[in-house]
Amino acid sequence: MDTNTNNTITTTTKRRRLVLLPTPFQGHLSPMLQLASILHSKGFPITILHTRFNAPNPTNYPNFIFIPISDTKEEMHSLSDMGNAVRFIHYININLLGPIRECLEWLMSKDEGVACLITDAHWFGTQSVADCLKLPWIVHRTSSISSFRAFAFPQLLRDMGCFRRSSDDEEMKSEALVPGLEPFKVKDLPKIQCSDPESAFNLLELMVQGTKRAQALIWNTCKYLEEHDLKAISQDFPNPHFLIGPFHKYFPASSSSLLPQDQTSLSWLDKHQPKSVLYVSFGSLVRIEETQFLEIAWGLANSKQPFLWVVRPGSIKGSEWLELLPDGFLDGMAKGLGHIVKWAAQQDVLAHPAIGGFWTHNGWNSTLESICEGVPMICSPFFGDQHPIARYVSDVWKIGVKLEHGLERGEIESAIRRLMVDKEGLEFRNRITNITEKVSLCLKKGGSSYSSLEDLVNYILSFP
Ligand code: UDP
Repeated sequence: MDTNTNNTITTTTKRRRLVLLPTPFQGHLSPMLQLASILHSKGFPITILHTRFNAPNPTNYPNFIFIPISDTKEEMHSLSDMGNAVRFIHYININLLGPIRECLEWLMSKDEGVACLITDAHWFGTQSVADCLKLPWIVHRTSSISSFRAFAFPQLLRDMGCFRRSSDDEEMKSEALVPGLEPFKVKDLPKIQCSDPESAFNLLELMVQGTKRAQALIWNTCKYLEEHDLKAISQDFPNPHFLIGPFHKYFPASSSSLLPQDQTSLSWLDKHQPKSVLYVSFGSLVRIEETQFLEIAWGLANSKQPFLWVVRPGSIKGSEWLELLPDGFLDGMAKGLGHIVKWAAQQDVLAHPAIGGFWTHNGWNSTLESICEGVPMICSPFFGDQHPIARYVSDVWKIGVKLEHGLERGEIESAIRRLMVDKEGLEFRNRITNITEKVSLCLKKGGSSYSSLEDLVNYILSFP
């Protein structure tokens, strides 16, 4: 967007309050809070509306006002398992709109007023509330534009059988390219498995229609990475698009972690050679089977490369934490190689010179964090946007190896060696280093994200 207004932090324009509403999961909360900090640095007062379930810690953000929505924490917790994602999103969009409306009316009655409501795309139901209150509604999409392409056409997904009751369908594992959605293969498309596929289809339709109707879209990405994808969706989504990411690079490591961060990882990394350690983490939501856990453990041990492994408590089905690990794993087969923690300060870990690779589930935040630190990846997508993102990492940006056949110790060992030992690893590193530089230029004065943020500020200031 082209604008003429100069909008530095010192502008004298009186800025009205922005109300932001995140989806209550780590991978959604973090970018929304980062966005809030970015907009606050541009002079906007900020209010965060949030659920009591997975509530952010207000003490980390003394400049914001936090207002909890009166939700039933227990009920939300019981729906928060990924198997219930469809019911969870329906729930918040039906049951929480009343309290959200009350909060907004109250905030709008204050002198300062409210300039606009910015919500995660999951909160599509808030559009009706914003419309009733004549409040501009902007959607923040927390994933990549390229992965959005894989979700943006629900009817196509329905025709291809992506809404299903059971997960074991060989056809959905096809390597065939999806016409019109290249480079995605059939196996990369989101498979939405639930007891009521029709309601899952309706939900995706509502979300996509919501995105289409939003006054504008804010993306945690940048033109260098996804300009082509932006063009590809622009015809179907003609809204103004603001690509102002990567958000987490505006400020030092963010403090939005819902879990306590382990303090031993960095001192353990200090003892290692540059680029020698593989960091392994599958984010905040993935849960794996016992057999998969053991394949990971054996693959790591057999590769003989040092590793820092995040095993989130509860992330292995039927197990609390490490009980399933073979006896003496860290003292025996992986002797001296590994360090296992419950939750890491991931951005700091990725920035540590000892890290040479990241074995990731390709959540968008993790992928962006890896790109920004120039760390090549091993990709193990599990669900949702992780599959399309992994396809881009391996086939488009060519900065990682994708495990194409799930979790099997032989393939794991060979992927680790390709990334950490072989000449191919150096090629991945060279490519990602180049991308890291280009992405960081986007944030500098004159860069595309820098300009897009200025445009966004002016856009918000233009609301009556
Ligand atoms: N994260 C972290 N410590 C960990 C693992 C993950 O701080 O041990 C953070 C990571 O830096 C990222 C977020 O959790 O910002 C995970 O978001 P992502 O989109 O990658 O995946 P999700 O958890 O939504 O699947």
